[in-house]
Amino acid sequence: TVAISCQQVSKTYETRNGPVNALSPCDLEISPGEFVVLLGPSGCGKTTLLRMIGRLHDHTSGSLDLTPVEAGETTTGFVFQQANLMPWMTVEENVALPLRLKKQPKATRMETARDLCSRVGLENFTKSWPRELSGGMQQRVSIARALADDPQLLLMDEPFGALDALTRTRMNSELERLWMASGATVVLVTHSITEAIMLADRIVVMSARPGRIVSETRVPFPRPRG
Ligand code: ADP
Ligand code: ADP
Repeated sequence: TVAISCQQVSKTYETRNGPVNALSPCDLEISPGEFVVLLGPSGCGKTTLLRMIGRLHDHTSGSLDLTPVEAGETTTGFVFQQANLMPWMTVEENVALPLRLKKQPKATRMETARDLCSRVGLENFTKSWPRELSGGMQQRVSIARALADDPQLLLMDEPFGALDALTRTRMNSELERLWMASGATVVLVTHSITEAIMLADRIVVMSARPGRIVSETRVPFPRPRG
């Protein structure tokens, strides 16, 4: 698990039409193991902030620190709006991919992958091809893949945006269960108020033009972990 500290972090994209101020300087402290939801309308800088936390984008100013509680480097899992599965790999091979990139032996990584598949309810689809699965099932594969190397930090950008309402509700409960079983710090981007209220320890509300944090609300019912 990992602590996140953003101090006066801002982002300006340089484009052909000049600079775009995506995020005004903002402060955000996230505790180890906390589940934080970034909520706000399109264009308020949610994706930008999430990507800077994940080091997919540099920040323009301020300081942004990730402090792992355990020794060693911070491992981060990403889930995007699209599942982005490898179409030529089976479900279990997709889930095992991060471990394959870490050169884990095949037998161990496939065992981990099959275990993760059952944790997201796909135990009967481990040998299926991504195209044989529904959108919700593909997104579950991408969540299992993000969890494969036991990340200390899980960053999710509207992971359920493309799903129907029922699948989305089920995925929310599944995600909460997986989070409670892991020690990971989670930052989730959504523009669903319902999703934010269901999942968050803390809701960070953002607003556009210019992108900024306007409020933070702690959800008053702490959940048991472990
Ligand atoms: P959100 O995720 O809340 O919809 P984004 O972080 O995607 O917001 O975008 C914030 C602002 O930054 C928007 O005005 C968007 O157009 C702009 N923006 C995002 N990514 C880029 C980029 N790669 N280049 C230029 N402008 C960008
Ligand atoms: P979101 O689903 O978060 O609203 P968008 O559809 O706004 O995302 O953006 C999708 C991708 O396009 C992102 O990678 C974002 O960084 C990039 N992007 C968004 N706005 C711009 C822009 N004005 N110029 C260039 N890239 C952009």
